[in-house]
Amino acid sequence: MANDLFIYNTLTRRKEKFEPLNPPFVGLYACGPTVYGDAHLGHARQAITFDVLYRYLRYLDYRVRYVRNITDVGHLENDSDEGEDKILKRARIESLEPMEVVQHFMNRYHEHMRDLNVLPPSIEPRASGHIIEQQELIGKIMEAGFAYEVNGSVYFDVPHYHESHPYGQLSGRKIEDLLSNTRALDGQSEKRSPLDFALWKKADPAHIMRWPSRWSEGYPGWHLECSAMSTKYLGMQFDIHGGGMDLLFPHHECEIAQNVAGYGKPSVRYWIHNNMITINGQKMGRSLGNFITLEQFFKGDHEMLDQPFGPMSIRFFILQAHYRSTLDFSNEALQASEKGLMRLMKSMDELEHIKPSASSSVEVNDLASKCDEAMKDDLNTPVLIAHLFDGVKWINGLSEGRLGITSSDLENLKTLFHNYLFNILGLTGQDTPNREKGISNGLMELILQMRNEAKANRDFATADRIRDALSDLGITVKDRKDGADWEIR
Ligand code: ZN
Repeated sequence: MANDLFIYNTLTRRKEKFEPLNPPFVGLYACGPTVYGDAHLGHARQAITFDVLYRYLRYLDYRVRYVRNITDVGHLENDSDEGEDKILKRARIESLEPMEVVQHFMNRYHEHMRDLNVLPPSIEPRASGHIIEQQELIGKIMEAGFAYEVNGSVYFDVPHYHESHPYGQLSGRKIEDLLSNTRALDGQSEKRSPLDFALWKKADPAHIMRWPSRWSEGYPGWHLECSAMSTKYLGMQFDIHGGGMDLLFPHHECEIAQNVAGYGKPSVRYWIHNNMITINGQKMGRSLGNFITLEQFFKGDHEMLDQPFGPMSIRFFILQAHYRSTLDFSNEALQASEKGLMRLMKSMDELEHIKPSASSSVEVNDLASKCDEAMKDDLNTPVLIAHLFDGVKWINGLSEGRLGITSSDLENLKTLFHNYLFNILGLTGQDTPNREKGISNGLMELILQMRNEAKANRDFATADRIRDALSDLGITVKDRKDGADWEIR
């Protein structure tokens, strides 16, 4: 069963049968976050895509080593080697040590990943902890003649590399087009070609995060850490490298060039990329004002949100699209996911109360093979979820006594739902923020009803006591003709 998974390889642009280099071991690397700000929906989609892959490979009995890095140095604002370091910028604005910024946002990232039920990776290496490995790789690339030093900085020589190795293969870009679309270098630039990228940057006096090297006191280029850390933990060749489509170029293209130049061959067998999230049809961006963080989703704390959305609704929303399709956020779409998830979870509860009968009028084995096919067809979670909803219809029919099921079929149906919903899709029955919201709404309704009854019985002392006690809790009660409204101050 574990040998017919097909996944889409960005490098070859087709679905390929997944054949690990060294079964049952699988090496999986996914680019992690740059920790200078709060995680948003795009982070959630990338993390959940590779979490489902990780969970599914484990379900297929592979022994997966999942490495997901933390970028905590040298991620510059513009094209990876121009502009200000994003972490340093944050540190400067908030008068913090850069590592305080890193720690703060790393902790928050972990919290949000826990909320989304994203499993922690096997290894979570930090770029700042692998400076020596990165310097070693620079040395190898220089020895091979594919990098040059200028004033203490080292750049990768893209045109020279391209003479012997194709550059742009992964992203399907042609070097001629890249050159004509890139701004010509001004006289100030140290680079020989605008396509060249930094492997090591000499730190200017204001740059706090810096390490000694044989070239200068400086810091590594952003692309370098993933080349150095993936091969350190997964070997010179490994199975899967993943990330969002936004990382395809230049980040992953540069990674391939670094590995080929430094180690003599490409390291990655399958490249997997998840597509982007749009907000009401628009690209998401801080400058567009539609940049909603996960925290804001969980609290409903953004002008574009009609309500808070729990992490499980968000997870389910993401899984209802195929990872290679774009996914558009709207309140309506997320509300529909919230309802869909509730229906699935309600069926899970109902499943426990179904009594078996002498014969089955449902084809559980058929449903199981459809679910299996969906996941093995490039992790087609929307099709899988559609099949699970067919199962929900059965469960309704079974609870209403319209359908029958034998005890062994019933056990299989329970196992199927349990495996796909909880183990593979990683959903849980508890969507904390919404659950709490539901409970507090229910409690308030109960209390206000009791106060109304007290008033109807002319027990004004009790009615006032309830109103004052709620007021002490920061809840304002507003009387209406037919009842009362409440709001949290
Ligand atoms: Zn990376």
